[in-house]
Amino acid sequence: MPLSGIDIFKKLPKTNCQECGVPTCMAFAMKLAAGQAELDACPYIDDAVRAELEEASAPPIRCVSIGTGENALKVGGETVMFRHEKTFVNPPGLGVLVTDAMSADEIDARLQRLCSLAYERVGMHLKADIAALKDTSGDAAAFSALVERAKDAGVTNMVLMSTDPAVIAEGLKAASGMRPLIYAATADNIKAMADLALEHDCPLAVCGANLDEVAGLTEQLSAMKIKDIVIDSGTRDLHQAFEDQMNIRRAALKGNCRSLGFPTIVFPCEMTDDLMQENMFAATFITKYAGIIIMSDLHGANLFPLAVQRMNIYTDPQRPMATAEGIYEINNPDENSPVLITSNFSLTYFVVSGEVETSRMPAWLLIKDTEGLSVLTAWAAGKFVADSLAVFIKKSGITEKVAHRTLVIPGLTATISGDLEEELPDWTIQIGPREAAHLIPFLKNWKA
Ligand code: SF4
Repeated sequence: MPLSGIDIFKKLPKTNCQECGVPTCMAFAMKLAAGQAELDACPYIDDAVRAELEEASAPPIRCVSIGTGENALKVGGETVMFRHEKTFVNPPGLGVLVTDAMSADEIDARLQRLCSLAYERVGMHLKADIAALKDTSGDAAAFSALVERAKDAGVTNMVLMSTDPAVIAEGLKAASGMRPLIYAATADNIKAMADLALEHDCPLAVCGANLDEVAGLTEQLSAMKIKDIVIDSGTRDLHQAFEDQMNIRRAALKGNCRSLGFPTIVFPCEMTDDLMQENMFAATFITKYAGIIIMSDLHGANLFPLAVQRMNIYTDPQRPMATAEGIYEINNPDENSPVLITSNFSLTYFVVSGEVETSRMPAWLLIKDTEGLSVLTAWAAGKFVADSLAVFIKKSGITEKVAHRTLVIPGLTATISGDLEEELPDWTIQIGPREAAHLIPFLKNWKA
């Protein structure tokens, strides 16, 4: 159970020395309880109390890192059942299965697509995250060669999959320093797999026949001081796997069940041979509540929609996505190019800038900070109105970039044109199209 501010205060030094940046230990305790301060801010908490407070303030689903450095995949760390309650924290990793039974060409093609497929969407970089390298031959040398091949292809995050600890040991040697996820500890090999995880400081997946067995395995690992655990509930049946995902999340968040408080891994690639169905299964697990999703293959046709869905589910529903206020140059504009203005709702920016780019007409796009609201909402909220637009245009520096004084406003806000001309007497205000889709003909016929 999370500790209250009073519970935390009882464990603090109570000297009110203010070194943590707040006036009293009580104030610091309240901030800690609210998640607004870090324990490290107080240098006088002893180690035992620190461990106790860290344990009590840890998220109910542990955050586990796979890989190292800035490319590491972080999964788990979730605190809510539904994204409208707060936000989901760490998007699930999307990965591809590669086995040592595949031909060299097939292996290289899959790894190449994993590393190269990437997309930009509303300013975010979308790509796959992880390779699941599976031993099917029982040949440690073949598995080690597979790991080397993945490294050579540029893979940074890996799941090493084998039931044989000796094979995993060879894979870990090949992946030295990369902190792969070891898959998987079972009732039959748990001691040997745990020893490897401890020796190489790697996260370890468990796989059981059902959630009771999984909970028993994680308890054994926790007793062995292994903290970074990932759960495979074992089933390859969609209905059961979906139920397991929800039961794990609910048990960890609502039942305070520490033995299920870990991120999960699921294998749509092993649930069906139909690629379309596999994508649908993966989409289900993005929504509820997988930490890592392993696909049989990744192409643009399945990766892009899954990555966009993941982005949509894992953005903060309480904070609109926004683009930075400023002047954006599109298609190398010059002093005679049109000047357009719109709001900083990211989707608006990317739709408008995309249409301008497609038109191949050079233009200056002014993005006004509307706190992430779309044009019409911002206008209704008084954030896209004449006086604030005029202040922005005067300070933006656009007058030094263009020789004309013609400003194109969105057609949806035609009503502000009169007021804007009063606020900007040197400028002529033109009413642009109501829809971004009509920008191309508008720009092709544009005159200052
Ligand atoms: Fe209290 Fe520690 Fe803050 Fe000092 S630094 S006021 S002891 S919480």
